[in-house]
Amino acid sequence: MNTMQLYNSLTHKKEPFVTHEPGKVSLYTCGPTVYHFAHIGNLRSYIMEDVLEKALRWEGYDVLRVMNITDVGHLSSDADTGEDKMLKGAQREHKTVMEIAQYYTDAFFADCAKLNIKTPDVVQPATGMIDSYITVITKLMETGYAYFAGGNVYFDTSKLKKYYVFNDHDAEDLQSGVREGVEEDENKRNKNDFVLWFTKSKFEDQALKWDSPWGVGYPGWHIECSCISMKYCGEYLDLHCGGIDNAFPHHTNEIAQSESYLGHEWCPQWFHVHHLNTNDGKMSKSKGEFLTVSLLEEKGYDPMVYRLFCLQSHYRKALTFSWENLDNAAAAYEKLVKRIAALSQEGTVEEEAAATYKEKFQAALDNDLNTSLAVTALYDVLKAEVNDATKRALIASFDTVLGLELLEHAAALAEKETAPAAGGDPAVEALIQARAEAKAAKNWAEADRIRDELKAQGIELIDTKEGTTWKRV
Ligand code: AMP
Ligand code: ZN
Repeated sequence: MNTMQLYNSLTHKKEPFVTHEPGKVSLYTCGPTVYHFAHIGNLRSYIMEDVLEKALRWEGYDVLRVMNITDVGHLSSDADTGEDKMLKGAQREHKTVMEIAQYYTDAFFADCAKLNIKTPDVVQPATGMIDSYITVITKLMETGYAYFAGGNVYFDTSKLKKYYVFNDHDAEDLQSGVREGVEEDENKRNKNDFVLWFTKSKFEDQALKWDSPWGVGYPGWHIECSCISMKYCGEYLDLHCGGIDNAFPHHTNEIAQSESYLGHEWCPQWFHVHHLNTNDGKMSKSKGEFLTVSLLEEKGYDPMVYRLFCLQSHYRKALTFSWENLDNAAAAYEKLVKRIAALSQEGTVEEEAAATYKEKFQAALDNDLNTSLAVTALYDVLKAEVNDATKRALIASFDTVLGLELLEHAAALAEKETAPAAGGDPAVEALIQARAEAKAAKNWAEADRIRDELKAQGIELIDTKEGTTWKRV
């Protein structure tokens, strides 16, 4: 254990991964804003975070992974202005905000299941934590880190020793990048101050609101992640994940609130996944080309092809989506599955030889989660001078991290190749029917005779609760 090197956005370098408690990892992931389907860009982040979690488990860590669901508070600008994203979704579809939240939360986890992304140990909707926000904001008010102005509660960034924790840009640069086209809020004492609790802005339209010491209103976006993380992972979080666009202002503000509240460092390691781009830049929900998993399926792609496409690149490099690149991944996936399907079941695992390949695989993971090298390690196994049982065992082991469902797909392919085409052989079907009738009449001798007759033709019957199927052997 403890051999993994990960790039840490906070220190801008690769470092040995360490945890607060040896052997245990608390891992927090910013979840989706559930006003629309997740696009495959969002899902790139979740795939890479899933591989990270699985790699940590594979290396023996006991992992607790927590994710929020943003169902309140995220305005259309990542700063505190513009429309409420949830409200916008509800108006678009003539539904209530809670209906929209439920629908797109379910859709998100359905997409995750298709991509073999494990559901985190804890999934917490932001609307379920109002009391915690009030507790934290009350303390921030008492300790002078927050102030009340124009009906809202703001975090006072001038109280911090350092605000820009991720970027070395000067403040002006960041300012213009983030706030372009966004009107200034005159209640703020400092440009980067952000809302902890709204009672005023967009108040008239707001569907969900709660009582608070500062008036009826709703929480700002950032406070949810600080409170949800602290509730489930305690005062010391080991690792925080998210897409790179969330580093500023969202994660920067999470750190500001959490550390001011706790009075000590909160999370020392930050893992940011870079963007999936189209030819026009970052794939985003507000832009034209909005690709979903369902759309890939409609076009005939297995979701595993998209997973492989993502794994073939490093998470810290922007990845450009194109159909041609996806076709290349589809061809690679098909070839991989075919080669695995051709492996026999015979032999016993050659443990010593297997260990060498495992080391190579682990070295890829430990090298800042180099998934493309980890995929190469799979090909090395297929080419290796070891028996098929060893190859199968290694592929099974590696795939608990890569999550490409390789053995399952290979088994399905092998079955397809041996099974008859649908509605295939009327003579066989007639005999199966006759055997079912014999069994119903308790004529066991006749039922066995039919089974033997089919066996002699190279057909094996498989009795299941749903009925009898068969395959050629
Ligand atoms: P959202 O649903 O907008 O809150 O975003 C969910 C996650 O997807 C966050 O971690 C974002 O940082 C991430 N994300 C958004 N756009 C992209 C993209 N084009 N590529 C990769 N990750 C993204
Ligand atoms: Zn977050």
